[in-house]
This record gives sequence, structure tokens and C-alpha cells, in this order.
Amino acid sequence: MYPKIVKHLIFPLHEKFMGRRTMSCLDELEKWQWAEPEEIQELQLAKLKSLLMHATDNIPFYNERFRKFGFNPQEIKSIKDIRDIPMLTKEEIRTNLEAMLWKECPGGLHRYNTGGSSGQPLVFYFDRRRQAFDKAARIMTHRWWGVDIGDREFYLWGSPLEMAGQDRLKQIRDRLTNEYLYSAFEISQDMVPEIVTRLEKFRPKCLFGYPSTISLFCSMAGKQHIDLSGLGITVVFSTAEVLYEHQKRIINQALGGIPVVDSYGSREGGFINHQCREGTYHVMDPNYILELINDDGKPVLEGETGEVVITHLDAWGMPFIRYRTGDMAKSDGMECPCGRGLSSMASLQGRTTDFIVTPDGRWQHALSLIYVVRDIEGVSEFKIVQEEIDLVRVLIRTDSSLYPDNGDRRIRQGFKKRMGGEVKVRIEHVEMIPRDASGKFRYVVSNVGGNYDC
Ligand SMILES: [Zn+2]
Repeated sequence: MYPKIVKHLIFPLHEKFMGRRTMSCLDELEKWQWAEPEEIQELQLAKLKSLLMHATDNIPFYNERFRKFGFNPQEIKSIKDIRDIPMLTKEEIRTNLEAMLWKECPGGLHRYNTGGSSGQPLVFYFDRRRQAFDKAARIMTHRWWGVDIGDREFYLWGSPLEMAGQDRLKQIRDRLTNEYLYSAFEISQDMVPEIVTRLEKFRPKCLFGYPSTISLFCSMAGKQHIDLSGLGITVVFSTAEVLYEHQKRIINQALGGIPVVDSYGSREGGFINHQCREGTYHVMDPNYILELINDDGKPVLEGETGEVVITHLDAWGMPFIRYRTGDMAKSDGMECPCGRGLSSMASLQGRTTDFIVTPDGRWQHALSLIYVVRDIEGVSEFKIVQEEIDLVRVLIRTDSSLYPDNGDRRIRQGFKKRMGGEVKVRIEHVEMIPRDASGKFRYVVSNVGGNYDC
């Protein structure tokens, strides 16, 4: 499809059809990015006030929470006053999901799951307003790198939908909007030539996906002496994981020295920040209030690392007010030479995703196994350990009143489907899941895959 037709006709029509005001959100963001920081803060405060009023009037969970802690949204004078509201944990969302929804939300509520940044699965809902702003943020930041609506984008990506291959409609839609999705859950040496052929045929302007997957693909292509530098890709957008220097180097070298650009976001958190051409991670301030919080629940000092806590100013269907993401980032109060008024934060510090190796030698993204477990009701925590190439242990802590009778069977079936029928899956129901010596929780550990020299 011609990029201009997509940009001016198909994409705007599609968004309208979906009930999203993406194009006007995009216009707003484009304007706000150049505003003075003080003006942006005024906007944030105004949006925050309306969000809090809405939450008081329409969301039982927040109504009760504000009353309990004596918080009155009418009295809010500055953004900092948000600190009077207690932070929201994943556990609270799990327990209070129903009471957190705006039942009369225009355009309805749309159910999602978390993308595996922690071992605990989480169900949540999006509304059209929030989707429009997240989408607009993505478009704007890609424009920073010369990629506009309608330009061909190749996703080396994966999600349960694509894996199950059940969404044919989405495939057609992706083609119409010049997006090509290739499931990243499985990558083997054999598949590299096929991916290259698809890239040659599709001629994407940018490549988008997990840095672990893209760098693995690049290094595998290198081992097969396949030259990727002539594919015409102009930029790589990395997301959903920490982008390590060595990965950046591998990708950059393999693709002929093009920029490898990082961003931070998550399924439930949305599109939080993105690097500009100066390398600064700009926060999408018009859509968010972002805080970095230390162990005592206080804001960190400049240069310190803290937990990312977000308030999504446009998530009205299911408000996320002071939501603890579980991700750690460093604060950075620098002004960017690019001239944008958007604030900045340093790169993400923690979040790792491993690959596992299947008995038939494929590399598979750990998320594919995480999706299987986290989709079962009543799972409060889990850890997957690949002990041997054909033996996987699943430690699982469940709420027995919710966990279904066929839960274990679903896990076994799901794992065998992804790793091969010969794999043994040992499920252990436990009271507590031990942390690593560092205190960090790793939700997937492969004692087989660690030797890959990527
Ligand atoms: Zn900048």
C-alpha cells in the first residue's frame, strides 16, 4: 500500500471506525512537545484534576480510597499533591479489578494482560481515549526519527494473539496500514533466511521489537554470512526490555550503522518515554505524571534510581493513579538540546528477559511461556526454571479458590505446544517463591540457554 494513502486515508478512517481520536491527540501532542515545561505542568495539573474528579464520581475503588485517606481532589493545588494518594500495587489491582472500572465508559472497555515485566500476571482494561493517546505518542516519537504513518514497519514481535494465529482480521489490517508482524517467540538458525526474505520483500523503513530478539536475529544472520545492511532499514526501535550496549552494537553493525533507538513502556503502563535524536529519553508528559520513588516511598534525588510510578492522565476507563510498575529507572533532570519541553529520565535499569532453548534447538522468547501461566485465573506468582533441555519446573503460588481444576493441565499443554511434546513439565505448588541472591525476582531462568554467546 502506498504510504501516502495509508497516512491520509486508511489510517485516519481506521482510527475513526475504532472510535479513537488518535489524529487529534496526535495534533495536541505535536504542539505540546515544544511548549515550555511550566506550560506542560499546567496542562498536567488540569488533566490530573479532571481525572481525580472523574475517579471520585465514577470509580468505586478510588472513591473509597480517597475518602479513607482524607484526600479531596477539589483541594489539589499542584502536581506534588498527588503524593497524598497512596501508591497502587499490582496486588490491589488483582483484588479490586471490578471496582476499578468505569462501567459506562464511552467506547467500552477492552481487556488485556501484562507483558511479563514481573512474574505476577495482571489483567487490566483499556478505553479508547487511552489507546488514542498511547498510539499518538508512538506516532509522534517515530516521526522524530523520520518514520511517519504509512511508512513500512516490520515488527519482530510476539503476543498471544499472533501466536494463536486467531486474529486474521488484524493481519489484514496490518497489511493495509503497512505493518508487518513476525512472531518473535521462536527464532532458530533455520528461520533466519526466511525472515530475511520477508524483509527483502516488504522493504520496511524501520524495524521494531525486543532488543534481545533483534540482536539475536542479527548475530545469527552474521554467523550465516548474510548481509543485512542493504535491506533499506533506516532505524531500529527497541522496546519492552533493557537495551544493552552489546545488543545495540550488534544491531548497529549488522544493519549498516543505522541508529538503534530505545524507548520505555509496558502493556499496562502504556507508552512512557522515547529517545530523541540527542539520545534523551523524553517522557510523554502530556499523558503522564511520572514519579521515581525510593524504598521509603519518597521521590528520589537527581541521579538516583527509583521505582517508576505512573499516573496515566488519559486512562479514564480504568484509571492508573500512582501505579507502581515494578521497573527501576534513574532520575535525570537535564534539559535537552533538542529544545523540547518534555521532561527526561535516564534509561531503564532493571528488567530482563531470557530466552529458553527448545529440545529441537529453537530459541524461544521466555514471554511465550509466561503468557501461558499468567492467563490462568488465580495464579498470584510464578517462576519458570528450565533445568535441562527437556525438563522445565514451574513454581507456582495460587489462590486455590480461583485456580481452576484444569490449571496444571493447561500449563503442561501450553508448554508442550511451544517447546515440543517431549518436554517434561514439573509443576510445583508452593507457598513462597524464593528470590535470587541479589533479591531480584527473575520469572524465567534457563540453566540451558545461558551459554549462548550473543
Ligand atoms: Zn531531546
